[in-house]
Formats: sequence, structure tokens, C-alpha cells
Amino acid sequence: MNGEKSLDGEERLDQPPLDDAFLGSDAGSAAYAAATDAATRAVVTATNRATPYSGADPDALRDRFADRRVLPESGQPVEETLAEVTDDVLSDVVGVFDPGCVAHLQCPPTIPGLAAEVLVAGTNQSMDSFDQAPAPSVCEERVVSELCDLVAFPAGADGVFTSGGTQSNFQGLLLARAWFCRDRFDRDVQAEGLPSRADDLRVVTSEAAHFTAAQAAAQLGLGEDCVVEVPTDDSYRMDLDALDSTIADLRADGTRPFALFGTAGTTDHGAVDPLSELARRATEHDLWFHVDAAYGGALLLSDRERATLDGIAQADSVAVDFHKLFYQPISCGAFLLRNGSRFRLQDRNAAYLNPETDDESGIPNLVGKSLQTTRRFDALKPYVTFRTLGRERLADWVEYVVDLATATSADVRDHPDLELVCEPQLSTVLFRYRPDEGDPDEINPAIRGRLLRDGRAVIARTEVDGEATLKFTLLNPRATRSSLRGLLESVVEYGTEIERERST
Ligand SMILES: *Cc1c(COP(=O)(O)O)cnc(C)c1O
Repeated sequence: MNGEKSLDGEERLDQPPLDDAFLGSDAGSAAYAAATDAATRAVVTATNRATPYSGADPDALRDRFADRRVLPESGQPVEETLAEVTDDVLSDVVGVFDPGCVAHLQCPPTIPGLAAEVLVAGTNQSMDSFDQAPAPSVCEERVVSELCDLVAFPAGADGVFTSGGTQSNFQGLLLARAWFCRDRFDRDVQAEGLPSRADDLRVVTSEAAHFTAAQAAAQLGLGEDCVVEVPTDDSYRMDLDALDSTIADLRADGTRPFALFGTAGTTDHGAVDPLSELARRATEHDLWFHVDAAYGGALLLSDRERATLDGIAQADSVAVDFHKLFYQPISCGAFLLRNGSRFRLQDRNAAYLNPETDDESGIPNLVGKSLQTTRRFDALKPYVTFRTLGRERLADWVEYVVDLATATSADVRDHPDLELVCEPQLSTVLFRYRPDEGDPDEINPAIRGRLLRDGRAVIARTEVDGEATLKFTLLNPRATRSSLRGLLESVVEYGTEIERERST
């Protein structure tokens, strides 16, 4: 203000306020132990409930927060805040551990993964430079290397942890675009932007691919319309004849397909595209082959299931999510690149993070491979989980949920009031309640809504061939065939009730 500091002010600078708000001192350690202990107890209570949801609706939840000052003038003891949050928030989280929570690709995280999350948060390393995360950088490199082995990538493969499938898919198409423009137009997209002929660029994918393929195309300046959707076969896998004619048509039209975007586990059906055949087409037509294995990547763990992904090793890039069938806390994904030197296509040298001289000195340069700068040490979560549980146990869980989907589909098929919409793939069950009268396209979504409102079950709805469909996404190894039969009975009970209400 006037430049004249009081003695008071100077003394303050040697007495940091709130010593117990940070780790690093005895007072801080004690405060940390107390706060995390209270937090742990709150989590235990919140995750050990009788139903998967309380049923609270958005308005009720909004009312609860209406009077909460987010930034009050002065605060309160952390125990008080945690108690409040326990009532306000934790009481109405969705119970991902509950066998009745089967809507989305949202897994119950393993306890080793949760313990690792404590380490990740507590040490607050940032993966963008070695001096912000020394051993973590090397640990991530080690995890990535073994993941590349799991995919059966050749030597020279590389990868990086990501926030999930969205980011990994984006990165795959980003590199594909840069690679193609360099090879065909001698253009450095990083430096010079899109070539003038970018209007011709096309991404080929199936109509069942995740929406993030189109989203990435939009963000890459190519526009969603550059994504050409190949029809699927009866099993919702990319149809190969249709793929061949699509590529031929694109060529005939003078457009330039540059990437083939395959899926190993579609979100709706769990369908895995015929990856070997896709790989062959990609080689033949000189396309970048990206595989979105966000959901199905975990099949690689299983000796029994692995063959479904045959061909993935020929992909140029692969997206895998650990916060799905690998049972890790959100967020945790990886982007794997068969030819690791292609990370150069996106490399930026931020002088303050990775001086170019570091490259030769063997110092890890993870920021050059990532789309993020500050980045969490998420690789520690699969590392701790894998080393604790081992491959066989994780493979067991994957096989278990695949078998559950098969068994539950059989139960649907045998039920007089239910209809199986398609054969199960991976761990999804798609079915409908069949009313005697009334519109199934209205009644089925209503069943889902009412189950959620009553907190009885969290199931998904989607559309298959234009018809409203209910869906179980089975990720929870704690679910059983009988718990799922119980859910089916709830669906029928609610369906009957809604049908009766509507007919009167
Ligand atoms: C979940 C999923 C995504 C999106 O991944 P996020 O981890 O949610 O970003 C993309 N593709 C498929 C097939 C998925 O299942």
C-alpha cells in the first residue's frame, strides 16, 4: 500500500499461519491423520448401505445446498465440514459397490486402488517433469511398458496415462491427423495448422463407435461430418463388406480416409469389431488404425477371453480405461502407441519443463507425450492393484462378469414378461419389459426412472434399433446371478405397476 511495512507484518512472515493445514510438520501429520481418519469413516458409512441410491431428486438436492455458503468469511473445524458433507453429499451418492448399481461403465474401485489414490493425493506429484515427480515418472514408464506387453506391441512401443477414453481417443486421432498430413501433404500440422485440403479428410468408424470419435474430429478442426459411420452386422460389430464399400466409395469420391477407428467393446452392446480384419484393411489402405478398447481392454487379462481382441497388437494406437473393467478409481486411462517415436508428432518443448537437452540425458519427458501439463500420478493405482491382486485374480473377475451377463441373459430369455434384445457381449445385458398393453417405448424408460426414484436399482436405458431398451452393464464382481434375478423381478414388478396405472 504505502510501502511502509509494520514490524507486525514482518514477524508474521516467520510465523506461517495454520501450520496444521499442511503436511510436513508434527502438527500437520496429526491433523492429516485425524482428517483422513474421519474421511475414511465417512466413506465406509456411505458405501455400506442397503440400497444403491437414496432416491433424492435434483430439486431436493439443490434445496439442500441453497443456503450453504461455499466461501464463508471464516471457516470451521474440518471435522464439522466433513460431517456436513457426509449429510449433504455422501448420503446421496450412487452406490457403485451395490450389486443393484448396473447402469454404466462405472466400477467399484478395488481397495488397493483406493489405497494408491491416498498416496497419489497425499504426495501430489505432477507428471509433467522429472523434477516434479522423479520416481513416479519412472514408475509410470514401467507400467506403460508392461501395458504395451499386454497388448503384445513390439519393442519401441510407448504410451502415457490419460484422464480416460475421451482423451485417449482424441490423442489417437490427433496423431493420426498429424501423421497423415506429414506423409501426404508434407505438412507439419503442429506448426502450420490444417492443410487447405483438410476438407477431404475422413475418419472411418462404425455406427456403434463411441461419440468421442466425432467429438475429437470436431475438436481437431475436421468437423463431425468427416466421420463416416460404417453399418454394423447383426452383432453390432463393424460390417466388413460395408467397410470395404465405404472405403471404396470414399476413394471414388476423391476424399481421403486417414484413420480407421475400431472399437473393442462398444458402450451399448459390448461388441468388439473384428480387429484383425480391420488391421488388414488399415494396412492395405494406409490408414492409421486406432482401437478404442476403453471398455474391452481388460479382456487382455484373461487367457479365456483374450482372443476376442486378436488384431489389437497391429493397432497404431490403443485407448484403455482402468476406471472400468480394471476396477480403478476415476480417473485412470492410458493411451498406447505401437511406434513410440510418433509421439514426436505432437511434441512441444516447453523450455521450463523439458529442455531439449534432457532428451539425450535419459531424463523422462512425459509432458511431451501427454495432452495435459499438470497431471496426476494415476499410474500408481493399477501398479498397486496389479502387484497386490495379480493377473489371475483380475482375469477371474472379468470372466465372472462376462459369465454373469450370459447367465442373466438366459434368465431374461426364460422370463415370460421380458424380452432379450440381443445376445450378450462382454458384460452387457440388453432387454425390455413386455407389457400386455401400453407402449413399451414409454413403459420401459418409466421403469428405469421409478427404480432410481425409489432407490431400488440404478439401471440404464438406451435405444436399440429405435426402441427403448433397458440395460445392465455388469462390472461389479460382487453381483450374483440371484441378485440380478432380483433386479429383473423388480423391473417386472414396476412394469406391471406402471402398466396398471396407465390402463386405468
Ligand atoms: C467409456 C468409454 C469412452 C469414454 O471414456 P472416458 O474414460 O469416459 O473418457 C470411450 N469409448 C468407449 C468405448 C467407452 O466405453
